[in-house]
Amino acid sequence: MSASKSQYIIDLKTIKTKSQSFEYDLDNDFWASIEDGLISQGNVHAKAVIEQKSHFYTLNIQIDGIVQVPCDRCLDNLDVEVKKEENFVVKVGDEIDYSDEIIYVDADEQLDLAVLFYETTALSLPIVCVHEEGKCNAEMIEILKQHEPHTED
Ligand SMILES: [Zn+2]
Repeated sequence: MSASKSQYIIDLKTIKTKSQSFEYDLDNDFWASIEDGLISQGNVHAKAVIEQKSHFYTLNIQIDGIVQVPCDRCLDNLDVEVKKEENFVVKVGDEIDYSDEIIYVDADEQLDLAVLFYETTALSLPIVCVHEEGKCNAEMIEILKQHEPHTED
């Protein structure tokens, strides 16, 4: 994953009030900046609410919008609605780790929201993304059929 733009990096040490929220519109530039992204384009409203507790932070992430992903049948891009809310606990640890509901940041306390917005959106996608019946790229379907191993001709 590429280095995130600084606007998505929150310095947790600056969270002075008990609860603070950050809102973004994740446009095509955002999705294009994520290198190994399945999502090529999109328009998603994202919100993060960070609350300071005694020895940790709670983080609520909400995403809502539309992204474009390749269709599993014809490979053309397909619009998919995404909407999801996730809750995390953020702690300071020895290593940075975003892989679980408990997120660890190092002593610098820099939280990268871009990673979390991307992952929350990716997790909200259905397992199979296909166009509605008959809406696929007909040319591509024809080509794929010709390459099927067991044709009768
Ligand atoms: Zn399709």
